[in-house]
Amino acid sequence: MRPTWKNVYNWGDTEKPIDKTIEHHIEFLKKALHIEGLSQDHSLNANAHTEVRLAKRSRISRQQLKDLIRIVGSDNVQIDDFSRAKHAAGKYYGDIVRLRMQKEILPPDAVIYPREESDIVKLIRYCNTKHIAVVPWGAGSSVTRALEATKGGVALDLTRHYNAVLKLNAENSTVTVEAGILGPALEKYLNDKGYTCGHFPQSFEFSTVGGWLAARGAGQASTGYGRIEDIVVGVRAVTPAGIIDAGNYPAASVGGDIRHFIMGSEGTLGVITEVTLRIRKYNEANARMQSFMFPSFEAAVETMRLMMQSQVMPPHFFRISDPEETENALGMKGKDKGMTGALLNMLGFKKGGRSILYAIFEGEKAQTKLGAKTLNALARKNKGRSLGTYATRKWLEQRYSSAYMRDPMMDAGIRIDTLETAVHYDRLIELWRAVREYIKRDGETICLTHISHTYETGANLYFIFASPMQGKNELAQFEKFHKGIIDTFLAHGGTISHHHGVGRLGARLLPKQHSAATLVAWRALKKALDPKGIMNPGALIF
Ligand SMILES: Cc1cc2nc3c(=O)[nH]c(=O)nc-3n(C[C@H](O)[C@H](O)[C@H](O)COP(=O)(O)OP(=O)(O)OC[C@H]3O[C@@H](n4cnc5c(N)ncnc54)[C@H](O)[C@@H]3O)c2cc1C
Repeated sequence: MRPTWKNVYNWGDTEKPIDKTIEHHIEFLKKALHIEGLSQDHSLNANAHTEVRLAKRSRISRQQLKDLIRIVGSDNVQIDDFSRAKHAAGKYYGDIVRLRMQKEILPPDAVIYPREESDIVKLIRYCNTKHIAVVPWGAGSSVTRALEATKGGVALDLTRHYNAVLKLNAENSTVTVEAGILGPALEKYLNDKGYTCGHFPQSFEFSTVGGWLAARGAGQASTGYGRIEDIVVGVRAVTPAGIIDAGNYPAASVGGDIRHFIMGSEGTLGVITEVTLRIRKYNEANARMQSFMFPSFEAAVETMRLMMQSQVMPPHFFRISDPEETENALGMKGKDKGMTGALLNMLGFKKGGRSILYAIFEGEKAQTKLGAKTLNALARKNKGRSLGTYATRKWLEQRYSSAYMRDPMMDAGIRIDTLETAVHYDRLIELWRAVREYIKRDGETICLTHISHTYETGANLYFIFASPMQGKNELAQFEKFHKGIIDTFLAHGGTISHHHGVGRLGARLLPKQHSAATLVAWRALKKALDPKGIMNPGALIF
């Protein structure tokens, strides 16, 4: 890989040509935003192909370098500018702007690739003694500024060596893995044996099991398989105070559950090493897809709520696109006009109201049959009309592809980012309206919203916003705008984040999300496990 800036921030392989569908989508958005003919200056891509040179030099001393090499070997300690830049930020829009502008970059002094848990134990012990900050790294897909080396120190990257499947236990339906394993490697191993893990974040291709736990994430099929905390059975973590082993039981009533402090700890307590996950039989042949058109977002949400509260097994994937996202999906395929457009209008599914609902049921045939029948009846009751399997099939085909759109969109001068929250049903529509109103105040802005994770009491709301970049003021303007969205979540009963975590972005708002005594308890745990504060300083409230 050439050590260029583009290879630092790009999603996926920079050598691969851009997919035709993505090109088409970008042209579509450019037209919608009236941004043809912008100058290169707006796209912040002038240095994409230049070699990385960091202003901040590594502050690691010769002796420290020697000591680190003694622990993991010379091939597994890197202090070159490209490796450090690659471990300076995650994938939040502001991260990419900073990297493109080469501004306010906070790289580690060294990148270290441990080979086994005993390396991690020695490294943490060493860094603790020397007061060296440690940022644990999975695949770097964080979107919350959780990965910056605020105090320099070392980035501990588990993906190179610490990525094996350790044990499949078919009788218990569990798999034990090393935390640096990537989504596709785990899923392929399981699929070959007839199982699935069921955790599919949109970042699946470039995220790790350790990162899933540390950020307390949720995959696209979380309605059926659960969030990561529902899937985790056992976990081990190396902290400055020693190894935490949460045990490995189907359930236990033995006081508090330490797994729930490790999950969501974002590298601030220690390094997650071994993880045992519940797995399920992979029954692709039984999967039943459905899609429906509704006359309004409200009607689609009501159908979703009734399904979730029906006590019939809900769909594993359960999504709704709001009217603007629905229009975007139809427009992209030219289905907002012509015969299809006319037919939709005639049936009462008018532009500005119509919303698509997507569902996939998995599991035993009798269950999927009952689920599909129940959803069908509820949809009809709420004026929904079946679109067969088409819309869901199309969504499934491109479920990971929009991640590849951001870099070429930024090259074209388009600002694009996402934020997500969760809220109970009784305030969901209110929050959706308030956030849209806030976003739309920012001039020419596209705001596509969907629900993709559903519960009996409420659901998430995921906002994608795109607008023309603001030239040299892009970063400052964007960050002000971004803060306002999270403030609006809180003002309308939403959480700071449903599945992305907190990092350094949402940290200022944690005192509004948690009571004061909760924060006292949390800080006490941090002090006990990491008294010198070496673990990911600056993330969360630490
Ligand atoms: C395009 C895109 C789509 C996304 N879609 C989703 C989605 O659908 N669902 C979702 O949940 N998230 C999503 N995310 C967010 C992100 O992918 C998740 O937070 C993911 O779980 C991070 O995994 P990672 O391996 O990349 O971790 P990293 O980004 O490397 O790290 C994330 C945090 O976890 C810590 N960490 C990582 N590994 C360890 C470890 N072994 N021990 C201790 N701490 C560790 C890091 O220090 C950091 O604080 C998306 C991100 C992008 C860019």
